[in-house]
Amino acid sequence: MKTALLCIGDELLKGATVNTNLSFIGSKLLEQGLTLDHAAEIRDNGAAIADAVKTALTTCDIVITSGGLGPTADDMTKEYIARLFSLPLEQDGSVVFSIRRYWKQRHAGEPEGRILNQSLVPKGCKVILNQFGTAPGLVIRPPEAPEKMVILLPGPPAELQPMFEKDVLPLIVERAEKRCYTKLFYICGVGESEVEERILPLLAKTHPLTAAYCATHEYVKLFLNSPDMDILADATLEVRAEFGNDVLEGSDGIAGDVVRLLKRRGLTIATAESCTGGLVAKMITDISGASDVFPGSVVSYANRIKEAALGVRAETLESVGAVSRETVREMAEGIAERFGTDCAIALSGIAGPGGGTPEKPVGLVYCGIVCEGVTEVFEFRLGRSREQIRERAAAKALDMLRRMLLKGAE
Ligand code: ATP
Repeated sequence: MKTALLCIGDELLKGATVNTNLSFIGSKLLEQGLTLDHAAEIRDNGAAIADAVKTALTTCDIVITSGGLGPTADDMTKEYIARLFSLPLEQDGSVVFSIRRYWKQRHAGEPEGRILNQSLVPKGCKVILNQFGTAPGLVIRPPEAPEKMVILLPGPPAELQPMFEKDVLPLIVERAEKRCYTKLFYICGVGESEVEERILPLLAKTHPLTAAYCATHEYVKLFLNSPDMDILADATLEVRAEFGNDVLEGSDGIAGDVVRLLKRRGLTIATAESCTGGLVAKMITDISGASDVFPGSVVSYANRIKEAALGVRAETLESVGAVSRETVREMAEGIAERFGTDCAIALSGIAGPGGGTPEKPVGLVYCGIVCEGVTEVFEFRLGRSREQIRERAAAKALDMLRRMLLKGAE
């Protein structure tokens, strides 16, 4: 069984929108040990869309499209694909109901006609209702090849993602001839090539087992794939033994693990951030239920705020500067004391591109961590890109606290 994805939208070809629908669908398939056989970006042109679907169907069994289902003039995916298969458009009552309900949550009065036009669907298709927008997803069986499927999804990722996961992915998995199971590990503090090197002996002695790697600023994603579930279960134990605490417990990032560890132990955390501007606080509050462990944060960008809000001493700032071991120690201890928390993270560094000196180059970041009465200070060297330095600093700081919490629980 082969699958194609056609992402529709002029903005994709102009580079104005990054094609995250491809990365999302690709990663969801990979988790199931499957991959797309073909992917393309198509402009907002009815003939081009119909042509691309027709061509993809010559080699693929499932063709998914994203985008061009909305109410505006440039949205023509549904009309042209219906025309390609000579299917008339008919009103679907369940879509009318779903559009009205969605509309009433946001507007007074009835939806306009062009919004309700989205309830016209190709005859005989299966409708996927949209909880986060008005355009439904549509599963069409081409009359001349009813064993195949053309699946139309809306472009906005917030609409496409839940539809894909809940309704489309099961259709693909069900039809995949060779299921290949996947186990995904999130490995922190170890580089991608080192992960690969340390996995090779496992791959050499275990068959059939394959691995794929993907590095992010937070962790390396390690995918282990095997058609045999028992082999995968044994390999999972070996990976855990090899990497120990480097492997995250959950799938919601380092912050997810930190929030769970704090909750489990009944501990709390506050943050004091300079160069990361609140990024650590954002990562913590991205996790639902963070309010149980996180009372708040101070973004202390200016020295006077480090003094006034955190109690950093003027002599410290004068003698060793804001980017120093001593300052982050005082920041961390200051916020923990003022916010009454058991743990704290403080960060101060040179994010660049300006401001670096030979002694304190761009990328130098100090991190102070308080964990149950113990303060530790770390020095990071994080490269030259402002964005990378900030993201890596926030992730590394959370990882240091995670490791201290794990040690404290032993
Ligand atoms: P709408 O009802 O909003 O018009 P639609 O199904 O017609 O939805 P589009 O008009 O193609 O979808 O895109 C709507 C929004 O979704 C735009 O902001 C667009 O940038 C975004 N979008 C579309 N395709 C993708 C994609 N492949 N990756 C990321 N974002 C996308």
